[in-house]
Amino acid sequence: MRLVTLTVEAKSLPQGLAWADRLTVSMPQELAALLAGGLSLASAPGMQELSALAAGHLRRCAAYTESPPASTRVIGGYQRIPAVLRTAIGHGIGLLQRHRQTKWARFPGWPIDLSADFASDLAGMPRSLPRNQTATPVLLSHDIDSAEGLENLVSKFLTLEEAVGARSASYVVPCAWPIDHGLMAEIVGRGHEIGIHGYDHGNRTPFAAPDERKRRLEAARELARRYNATGYRAPSLLRTKALLEDLAAYYKYDSSIPTSGGAFPVPNNGCASARPWKIGTLWEIPLTLPRDGSLRFLGHGPREIGRVWRDVAERIWASGGVVSLLTHCEARFSGNRAMLRVYEDFLAWLAADPRFEFVLPNELVARLDGDPSHAGKAG
Ligand SMILES: [Zn+2]
Repeated sequence: MRLVTLTVEAKSLPQGLAWADRLTVSMPQELAALLAGGLSLASAPGMQELSALAAGHLRRCAAYTESPPASTRVIGGYQRIPAVLRTAIGHGIGLLQRHRQTKWARFPGWPIDLSADFASDLAGMPRSLPRNQTATPVLLSHDIDSAEGLENLVSKFLTLEEAVGARSASYVVPCAWPIDHGLMAEIVGRGHEIGIHGYDHGNRTPFAAPDERKRRLEAARELARRYNATGYRAPSLLRTKALLEDLAAYYKYDSSIPTSGGAFPVPNNGCASARPWKIGTLWEIPLTLPRDGSLRFLGHGPREIGRVWRDVAERIWASGGVVSLLTHCEARFSGNRAMLRVYEDFLAWLAADPRFEFVLPNELVARLDGDPSHAGKAG
């Protein structure tokens, strides 16, 4: 399906789509022509079928990263490149990429693209989150790539979150560096969630042969059991259809697919949806806010990052999605004074606004599965 980009005007749309006013979306050509034609859309022939097909296509067509990016082809693994050099390379690429956004964010658009959700509402399809739920779930998460990340999580991040009544989910690499179980027990003891972050962060699991992938997923089982992990986050957000299918045997949810992936790990990746959906029996909770690494790589300063997060969160609130943010705790990402300040301000902004509600991913999954003890605020 060829996609056409257009800006939507709510006044020509059926009721319930007011949230999409002045939204820029990508739609299959046929549907775009109907939308641009100013017809009475509700009665246009084939409209509903066309929109339903588009919703599925838009969500899936760039959801997976089926070919490994160059970083996974470095002999001995990209982790052998020193972190500082990796950051410098990434930053250099980022500054160049910022000027080439039309190439890497053709679809999904950057920093947010809600095309799949728009098409889904146009088709009148049911939403995964009930429409009468007044508060938008906000999920805070961290990928714990190193011992430094784990230490910073406990010493710098948890207190900021707890101060506004929030808890976060941290996805920990199971088989790469010695895990401090004292810290892990403290995280869980303070009411935060632990999830699994791949195998050794070598970015090979999604592309491995089925047996090798199974061995890697099995290797994380002990850590998952010990800390009640029910969720998975793929390192570098590299995810294949085969990986997501395999995850269902181990986890209740995955949170590796960004709404709008930006330039990394590969251009034009993401699901163009901010709503959770099911892949077989597995819930997929998309990462809906641009992540710290991508924004820093693109050369955004801390204050600008805070502004982007607030703008995108507002768009998502209106659309009936979830706000899901990934920050890394290492000093070179968000574990430094300037970024912690931005994070603290963003948390305070969310906490002061009744439109938002902090939720852990495992609570959200229970809610999506209809467990009444985890029901959200209804209005
Ligand atoms: Zn990672």
